Amino acid sequence: MKATHASSAYAYPLLIGQLWHTPISCTPDQEIVGGAERRFSYRELRARIGQLASGLNSIGVQPGDTVAVMDWDSHRYLECFFAVPMMAAVLHTINVRLSPQQILYTINHAQDDVILLHADFVPIIEQISDRIESGARFVFLRDSPDTPVPDFCEHEYEALLQAGSTDFEFDDFDENTVATTFYTTGTTGDPKAVFYSHRQLVLHTLGLVGGLASTDSSSRVHRGDVYMPITPMFHVHAWGFPYAATLLGIKQVYPGRYDPAQLLRLIAEEGVTFSHCVPTILHMLLTAPGAGQVDLSRWKVVIGGSALPLGLAQAATQRGINLFAAYGMSETCPFLTAADMTGVHAVDPEGDPAARCKTGKPTLMVELRVVDADLNDIPRGGAVTGEVVVRAPWLTQGYAGNPEGSEALWEGGYLHTGDVGFIDAGGSLQITDRIKDVIKSGGEWISSLQLEDLVSVCASVTEVAAIGIPSRRWGERPLLAIVGSPGADQDAVVGEVRASIQSGIDAGQISKWAMPERIELLDTLPKTSVGKMDKKALRARFADAG
Ligand code: AMP
Repeated sequence: MKATHASSAYAYPLLIGQLWHTPISCTPDQEIVGGAERRFSYRELRARIGQLASGLNSIGVQPGDTVAVMDWDSHRYLECFFAVPMMAAVLHTINVRLSPQQILYTINHAQDDVILLHADFVPIIEQISDRIESGARFVFLRDSPDTPVPDFCEHEYEALLQAGSTDFEFDDFDENTVATTFYTTGTTGDPKAVFYSHRQLVLHTLGLVGGLASTDSSSRVHRGDVYMPITPMFHVHAWGFPYAATLLGIKQVYPGRYDPAQLLRLIAEEGVTFSHCVPTILHMLLTAPGAGQVDLSRWKVVIGGSALPLGLAQAATQRGINLFAAYGMSETCPFLTAADMTGVHAVDPEGDPAARCKTGKPTLMVELRVVDADLNDIPRGGAVTGEVVVRAPWLTQGYAGNPEGSEALWEGGYLHTGDVGFIDAGGSLQITDRIKDVIKSGGEWISSLQLEDLVSVCASVTEVAAIGIPSRRWGERPLLAIVGSPGADQDAVVGEVRASIQSGIDAGQISKWAMPERIELLDTLPKTSVGKMDKKALRARFADAG
């Protein structure tokens, strides 16, 4: 039997625009709440995507051009997530938290043709505009029509849309066309550009939806949910959730600039039931004034970007939040694993926080291994650790314009995450550290994450980071940077921390070398551009402390 394709058969390329068929058929009147609390139905937002593409086309945007965005999380950003790739142009999501110098580097490296610029970021562009090499043109974004359009912006977003046609025709094209690009900042060197094709983003969306739907548990994400991102849309497409939420046709709420009071108000007033964020942001929300008055017991939260500390999981479950860890990175689109919540049908602060903190099991289609330096699998169980390497349909195929970095990333045909861990007897991955963050004391490798976990459960501690500081005798020794609870006495904090670590040592959870050389009490801990603990900054600050 020879398979014969009908000459008119539709090969269905996996293009981002195809994600709209389901919501338009099934939930066209569902609501999307945008910046400045403008409300749209899915039908209206889809029409605006046509208008945006039509408007961008009218100012000369062609397939293959790069359109960058500098905005807070808004309905406009969601429109760009679709309109730009759907016209076969490349969406560059600029990390607005980088330094002006780094932003300039990314604009020049990506060769942005058009930049959609929110009013709040005009001062950044004014600092660097004379050094932008691509001659990018600017479209101005504003939350109020009263905000004046700066002279250097040729166009204004709403005016561009109003002049555009809702019936803009999106052609089909090769699903391997690049759809998005953005930059990841490592410990050294210039930011590195990752990029994703339509096919990859569509498959990632399906992997995300499937992964979140597949557990038999109260943490499942479904059409009855109300979604609000608390991971910026420039950070790995808000981890891909806006695409997944759109495909599912669920109510979406875009919070603008992250202000704790505003986020808490939106959770209460819009009935938000599902979000995702890094641990430091959840910590900030839980400790914000007024947080205690908001009912968070209907809220499911995926925690990623860093390990979920046990102490934070305990504090959150006590508030009734149904949270669990997930794992991924900029290079992996990002979703790789999530804590296995099968059978967990209610939040139990006494029983389950540890299960919620596991790095988790691979989502659909992900091949995940933990290997030694020669790519041999290391035994399960945790007695030894190795590097996590992965294959999945949605991993960046390299760093744009950086062949050496790309080859190192993909050495041996697997993407190297740079994370160290093990797979436990039940099949769950546990990350114990980043290779760069492991504390190497004498011959021992001390897991900074394990150390932080032991400290995170101390009542007198609100935030903690463990780093290695140089030691002439041992190579490195651990240092703990801690923010104490309000009013906690310094000696009491240090005493409780040492006791907790000692109990971990006595229980055989961590080696005796993990007892820190120094414990520093600080007012705040430095955070990176995506809100994670900035261990690079801490190491620099304490470089001479050994
Ligand atoms: P980024 O590229 O900024 O998204 O950072 C990715 C890195 O964050 C990963 O390589 C890990 O080191 C870390 N990370 C993300 N999720 C987790 C997690 N659940 N547990 C531990 N580390 C994580």
